[in-house]
Amino acid sequence: MSDAELVLRSTRVITPEGTRAASVAVTDGTITAVLPYDAPVPESARLEDLGDHVLLPGLVDTHVHVNDPGRTEWEGFWTATRAAAAGGITTLVDMPLNSLPPTTTVPHLRTKQRVAADKAHIDVGFWGGALPDNVKELRPLHEAGVFGFKAFLSPSGVDEFPHLERDPLARTMAEIAAFDGLLIVHAEDPHLLASAPQQPGPKYADFLASRPRDAEDTAIAQLIREAKALDARVHVLHLSSSDALPMIAEARAEGVRITVETCPHYLTLTAEEVPDGASEFKCCPPIREAANQDLLWQALADGTIDCVVTDHSPSTADLKTDDFATAWGGISGLQLSLAAVWTEARRRGHGLEDVVRWMSARTSALVGLDDRKGAIAAGRDADFAVLAPEETFTVDPVALQHRNRVTAYAGKTLHGVVKSTWLRGQRIVADGEFTEPKGRLLTRTH
Ligand SMILES: [Zn+2]
Repeated sequence: MSDAELVLRSTRVITPEGTRAASVAVTDGTITAVLPYDAPVPESARLEDLGDHVLLPGLVDTHVHVNDPGRTEWEGFWTATRAAAAGGITTLVDMPLNSLPPTTTVPHLRTKQRVAADKAHIDVGFWGGALPDNVKELRPLHEAGVFGFKAFLSPSGVDEFPHLERDPLARTMAEIAAFDGLLIVHAEDPHLLASAPQQPGPKYADFLASRPRDAEDTAIAQLIREAKALDARVHVLHLSSSDALPMIAEARAEGVRITVETCPHYLTLTAEEVPDGASEFKCCPPIREAANQDLLWQALADGTIDCVVTDHSPSTADLKTDDFATAWGGISGLQLSLAAVWTEARRRGHGLEDVVRWMSARTSALVGLDDRKGAIAAGRDADFAVLAPEETFTVDPVALQHRNRVTAYAGKTLHGVVKSTWLRGQRIVADGEFTEPKGRLLTRTH
């Protein structure tokens, strides 16, 4: 601690060993020691006394659609990373689609990195995309530092990012397995979606019936079969159907290398409460019934679901029409994800330590950043959120930093106010005031 530049002191610091009063020493943007609360502060160091506010590791959100360049009217790096910072997120990994170009070749990755470089208020990494015709691009993208590859098993919603049918999926998986990369998958079966009842209009029940659980379950079963055959590493994106949980647990027990995420909206919103025509609640797979939600929480508690990520996927307000069949599917969650999940977690008897495990430690591990991110421990980056977990606020869309202030959480009262967010020892936002962007671009090898 003798050479520390900064010491953050709180009566509640969330460490991998639990929550305790501690002083966290920081030098050159790295945590150098987690010391007793009353450890003497060297004269060279600046002391930040946080009182009873909780110091937790900055969240790592591995599922964000920034859409920049190309669809920046939906979202961009400047606005997305400010929203994330305001919500206690210090690292995001950008999805390969909805931007133009999509991140499906190395030159496209370079374009995205160039665009993000001077707009990133937090650290930003990139997923690559797996298309039916870009198998040859996967290894070069892996070597250029993408964290893994996203594929769709059903239509993605944008024409430039087609989905993989059975044979292209097997070819893609074999290629990625050859360099032990990670395949992340939007798992809904296109044939079951096509045969589900299609009733356009404003009724949420009709939309829900058009995206049945069975479509998710069947696609996940296919994924498990292929992963097992190839000993490949796969990750199920945005799990909504609780019916898939037993087969996932069973596959994992058999040694299949499969991980699973779910999202704040599946954990905190229910089909029963979606008003007709309210397409700010539309996403795919859909928000399902309350009984389904209970099982998702159970699976988080028992570890079948590894982590919670936002799947922040905004569009302009005009695409959020009152027809669920044609409205853009995607929920904007970046700024509110911590508060939304914490609010429901505490109601169900979980601690903030659990939320940190789901939204920081496990997501860091998913992308191999857990040597630098995801914990308050010596050697990790000094990335923090300072949270008043007992304080509440009512969601006012005007207070959001997202480019389009459309939110499914409007009017909700949430627990957990983020007081400040820190990136490598620098406070990047406090009480709505931001510094200039200080984020870095991350690669798989950092
Ligand atoms: Zn997504």
